Amino acid sequence: MKYALIVRYGEIFLKGKNRHVFLNQFRTNLGKAIKPFEGVKVHAYHGRYLIDGISDLEATKSAVLKVFGISSISEAMVIGQSIEEAGARALEMIAALPQLPTSFRVRANRSDKTFRPNSPEIGRLVGSIIHLATKIPVNLTTPDLLVEVEIGNEVCFVTISRDAGPGGLPVGVSGHVELLLSGGIDSPVAAWLLLKRGVRLSAVTFYSPPYVEETARDKVIELCRILRPWGGPERLHVVAFGSAQKILRDCRPSKLAVLLYRRLMVKVAELFARADGAKVLATGESIGQVASQTLANMAVVEQAATLPIFRPLITYDKSEAIALAERIGTFKTSIIPCQDSCTLFLPPRPETRGKIEEILAAESHLDLDAMARELFESAETITF
Ligand code: ATP
Ligand code: MG
Repeated sequence: MKYALIVRYGEIFLKGKNRHVFLNQFRTNLGKAIKPFEGVKVHAYHGRYLIDGISDLEATKSAVLKVFGISSISEAMVIGQSIEEAGARALEMIAALPQLPTSFRVRANRSDKTFRPNSPEIGRLVGSIIHLATKIPVNLTTPDLLVEVEIGNEVCFVTISRDAGPGGLPVGVSGHVELLLSGGIDSPVAAWLLLKRGVRLSAVTFYSPPYVEETARDKVIELCRILRPWGGPERLHVVAFGSAQKILRDCRPSKLAVLLYRRLMVKVAELFARADGAKVLATGESIGQVASQTLANMAVVEQAATLPIFRPLITYDKSEAIALAERIGTFKTSIIPCQDSCTLFLPPRPETRGKIEEILAAESHLDLDAMARELFESAETITF
């Protein structure tokens, strides 16, 4: 039996003059998703995409379902130009359902206009084959199951189900963001939310050898690998932060240390953003989650940046971020215990209401920009 996938995209984004940009990127991304599967091909097909040549349906489908921009997807059986075959395949697909539907309707589409009979008649004929064999009642207005039959020139198929796609926009249509990616739960989720809106991502991570184990670095690399099928990040800059942190730890008053770490991180990320062509920075912060994420402290950290900072999780509860991390597949890796740069060299009472004048006074003995440049120049970059 030959299987295919029918891929639909959200029409709503396609009204403007960017339609072709969206569609080109979408098709490229579908092509990347099916690349590991030999013989599988993607074709534009009457306002949808058809993926055929499939041998492993489950694996192909789960890879395709990670392409943002898909509104829904259907498993289809490829048939000849035959009403009898449409009916027979529909019956096979219905028999494979975990339970029989309480009612059904057939919707036919005849993109080959030379085929006879016409679409409503195809629908009636296939419907009567199904009804005679199963006795399932027909319901034209609110059917429990919708059987779709497509009679085209190049391809004909039957489908009986639609799965929701991940939605969003194709990765690559919305510009480039530089994400501060830790090994924690939140920033990989922030990555996913940005990818969902069509953003390309590069990531920067800070870890502090020899004060933390290599696990910290490996964890972030693994998180990037998990995120890769969703479209990113394309590269990861790994910054060895330990010696810079040691200098900042000794600042006075010591309660400002974490804010200085953060301001330095933002400055380094900004250098990478400029090198990578990213116009915006992003973090996984959420209001009030930890001491450094009060409004006052976020404002103080943001003052060190000249680019805007996006915080997709800003209003998320931890439980909401965890639920998404589980769905994306990053949660298990994120919770592997290991020390993070930001929890290293913590002052006994970190500032929760940072004031910019105090920070600038503490920084006046330091050259944060020179430190940032040195960290930028000595970083390791991994491409995926
Ligand atoms: P996460 O789960 O993303 O680590 P968190 O709740 O642990 O977040 P923090 O550790 O305070 O909160 O980090 C807030 C944000 O700062 C992170 O989401 C990330 O964007 C950035 N960040 C923190 N530590 C690092 C790091 N070592 N490398 C890169 N970015 C970091
Ligand atoms: Mg963290």
